[in-house]
Amino acid sequence: MLRLHDIAVTFPNGVRAVLPVNLSVPKGQFLVLLGPSGAGKSTLLRCLNGLVKPTQGDVTVEGLGSIFGDARTLREHRTHTGMIFQQHHLIGRLTALQNVMIGRLSAHSTLRSFFPLPRADRLLALQSLERVGLIDRALDRADQLSGGQQQRVGIARAMAQQPQIVLADEPVASLDPATAEHVLADLHRICREDGITAIVSLHQIDLARQFADRVIGLANGRIVFEGTPSQLSQSILDQIYLAAPSRKAAA
Ligand code: ADP
Repeated sequence: MLRLHDIAVTFPNGVRAVLPVNLSVPKGQFLVLLGPSGAGKSTLLRCLNGLVKPTQGDVTVEGLGSIFGDARTLREHRTHTGMIFQQHHLIGRLTALQNVMIGRLSAHSTLRSFFPLPRADRLLALQSLERVGLIDRALDRADQLSGGQQQRVGIARAMAQQPQIVLADEPVASLDPATAEHVLADLHRICREDGITAIVSLHQIDLARQFADRVIGLANGRIVFEGTPSQLSQSILDQIYLAAPSRKAAA
């Protein structure tokens, strides 16, 4: 269980990106964040692994407590939290396998990570590539793969961490609709199989309908909808996407 307790973020320039948000995400849930650009989805996701420190409130994880409690707890939380980004953040000149191995680094001490990783890590990375259908491309350079394949490598890298939580920020936004659906289906299947809690921001409503266990609609930094995909009526979508941009710079 992941909990957000009254999380709010005001950036130093006065932009109030997230207004107090309370949310509990049960283990294994595939939660989709919907909302227009600028709604606060990325900022909220970044709070969940401590990349952004909320100006108010706390994030707690069952068994760990507050992720901001001390540096060790935050490190431990990050070890169990995989990140997937829109632009995959792969290193183009490295092979798919080497990129996935990067996901194993957090399991080792800084000193240990200067040396070749053990065979077990290599095996885990290969298994992760196999799960996204890319075992035959393991030794190809990442920059020679298609956009969809690159994002699959991004998913495999997150999975090689053996995470309990996955945070995905617009993971299929730059893919064509058919590829986006296949890549998200892979992510969804692996999360289901491993009981991983996933929090995924999307801009494709049809994909939210297809894959989400639960949808959170964000507008202007606030939760304006919380429910099942089947409750996403046109009037709810209007509430999410047509909300007047009321917040921003603090008074
Ligand atoms: P979304 O992911 O829904 O597009 P973001 O979380 O990226 O929304 O942004 C929410 C708001 O916070 C926007 O108004 C954005 O311009 C602002 N914002 C995001 N990051 C920063 C930052 N580092 N400094 C100042 N403002 C920011």
